[in-house]
Amino acid sequence: MNVHLDPEDTTKSAPPAPAGTARFKSLHSETIALHGGSYRFDPTSGAVAVPIYQTTSYQLPGTDGADKLFALEAPGHLYTRVSNPTQDAFEQRLAELEGGAAALALGSGQAASAFAVLNLARAGDNIVSAAGLYGGTWALFAATLKNFGIETRFVDAGDPEAFARATDDRTRAYYAESLPNPKLEVFPIAEVAEIGKRYGIPLIVDNTAAPLIIRPLEHGAAVVVYSTTKYIGGHGTSIGGAIVEGSFPFGDYPARLPTLHEPDPSYQGKSWIEKAAAIDFLPYILRARAVLLRDIGAAVSPLNAFQFIQGLETLPLRLRQHNANAEIVADFLKKHPKVSNVIFPKFQSGTAKARADKYFKPGNYGALVGFELKGGREAGRRFIDALELFYHVANIGDARSLAIHPSTTTHSQLSAADQLATGVTPGYVRLSIGLEHPDDILADLQQAIAAA
Ligand code: PLP
Repeated sequence: MNVHLDPEDTTKSAPPAPAGTARFKSLHSETIALHGGSYRFDPTSGAVAVPIYQTTSYQLPGTDGADKLFALEAPGHLYTRVSNPTQDAFEQRLAELEGGAAALALGSGQAASAFAVLNLARAGDNIVSAAGLYGGTWALFAATLKNFGIETRFVDAGDPEAFARATDDRTRAYYAESLPNPKLEVFPIAEVAEIGKRYGIPLIVDNTAAPLIIRPLEHGAAVVVYSTTKYIGGHGTSIGGAIVEGSFPFGDYPARLPTLHEPDPSYQGKSWIEKAAAIDFLPYILRARAVLLRDIGAAVSPLNAFQFIQGLETLPLRLRQHNANAEIVADFLKKHPKVSNVIFPKFQSGTAKARADKYFKPGNYGALVGFELKGGREAGRRFIDALELFYHVANIGDARSLAIHPSTTTHSQLSAADQLATGVTPGYVRLSIGLEHPDDILADLQQAIAAA
């Protein structure tokens, strides 16, 4: 819930419902990134930058006011595990930038994926997920959620109807990454969202690798997940995550979505659909905060929320450079005689290319580039060891350029066959292209390939 200290004070508050929607709808991303959300300046000091509210708790109004706060009938903050004004400012701005209605910031991307699913699925339920997932999400679904009694049915994202075939009465959500690596084939968001509508199943899309350049909510996704650790933070300094709710009609599907429709004994026996309607707010985000964040924690720290606001402010600008640099790198690798294959959406063909053209903002293919050296595994290792500018890091979305050899690092615990199935060939190298001058990036690649 994007809660506010004082509903009468328009400098720091807005009615809960429109948070993230109306105020800047007609403005461009660059402008929303700097001005989105109801925060304008700090009313006590006039500070223009959002202050870091480094506090655990908040002075409650009188006992009547406190009753209302605890019952979620009045806006306000109680305890930073559940909400905080710096976090609130970040959530509002992110929701607005995403074209969503409300957001919840969390302590990591892993927490965001877990919350996104646990908000809908309980023991005995299942979700259907694209198989091409970040390894941490795969482990969460295949092992940890399985141990909670939630089954994940993994399907091939190349065939949207596979989601329908895997669906039964206990399917509560569809899940996918918009731009999964290593294959970098864009997920068919609209096609699977459409299938979801047949059954009342919301589609959750992890858009970590493609913020702003792929717009899942515009294509029918119900919820967007981020590891804000990557491009949103943008500088490799802070771990965080977020979920953003769009306009999916959660209220229309009582049998399909029991967590939102059944009475919750911890909130006066009302359902989350009813609770949200009573305060003109969004049921999915409201429950995620009031139930999961309350019970599981995984709160984002105020300092990290501040860092993510800083990141959002330059995100559109940074992404333009990330994407432009990545395309220069991909073009360079494509022509290099020692490179056998370049994995980059621009060079795809058939359905994968058609999807890239449909879902990416024109001319933006993201900043991840994969390639294979003709010398295979050993050449991949020598290449990594020869890099001077690139960092050898298991991360993406830093301002600095990063490289990794998945077969011997991130995917080393998979069998050779499983590695191949996920698209990791022995010589595959993944690059996350940063903001350095492209000539310097190319020079480092040139010398490292020569040494490989
Ligand atoms: N989703 C994707 C696509 C990721 O790449 C990652 C991390 O690499 C995560 C989720 C998990 O995010 P975090 O590391 O912030 O928990």
